[in-house]
Amino acid sequence: MRRPFIAGNWKMNTTRAEASALAEAIAAAGPGAGADVAVCVPFPHLADVERALQHSRVRLGAQDVYWEESGAFTGEVSVPMLADYCSLVVIGHSERRQYFGETDETVLRKLKAVLASSLDPIVCIGESLEQRKANQTGEVLARQVANGLAGVDLSERITVAYEPIWAIGTGETATPEIAQETCAFVRAELKKHAGDAADAIRIQYGGSVNADNARELLSQPDIDGALVGGASLKAAQFLQIVEAAKP
Ligand code: PEP
Repeated sequence: MRRPFIAGNWKMNTTRAEASALAEAIAAAGPGAGADVAVCVPFPHLADVERALQHSRVRLGAQDVYWEESGAFTGEVSVPMLADYCSLVVIGHSERRQYFGETDETVLRKLKAVLASSLDPIVCIGESLEQRKANQTGEVLARQVANGLAGVDLSERITVAYEPIWAIGTGETATPEIAQETCAFVRAELKKHAGDAADAIRIQYGGSVNADNARELLSQPDIDGALVGGASLKAAQFLQIVEAAKP
């Protein structure tokens, strides 16, 4: 039985004060009884949000990481640096792939560095609208799984977020049927590499998840949670999505 996992991705949003207030509002509601809950926040807010969440069950994560431990890599943040603050990190988000040159190869390097640490990864995959229209969704996802997660020990420490790019931040959600069918496909691809261990890997759906559509999406058998962008910036909305995840 896979425990539902709802993670908020705050992206490049919130001032310092807003970040603390949002984390405090989420923590005050005491979520985490029926589902794992996390917030992935901008680097500068990690320390403040860690403090705000310290007596809660809400896990703290970052949104990216570099694979080298230290050195002349201006602007980058390493795994050991993050591990002092949080327990989770997003890797390969489509916005990193689209705007910052992330590839399956860099995803794999980051994933290996993260798995060698105490951090747990959320690895994002997903197809563009052009690829879906051209019936290339399966091919793209199979490649992202094969290349981005190749040769690592695929265990329940890894969460995979299936996020169709056309549904991220657009208000356009995959229908529950499409999301389920695609997440089941992703699990079958994971099984090719991990065998039955893939049954323990949680697959989140991401793409305009909100309080209205969460319950139906999260009730699908191969959708084990959600990676939530826009709707994670409002405590009440985010908490309703967490509520909807309870079995
Ligand atoms: C995301 O940031 O991963 C995401 C899915 O964003 P949104 O929920 O805003 O579509």
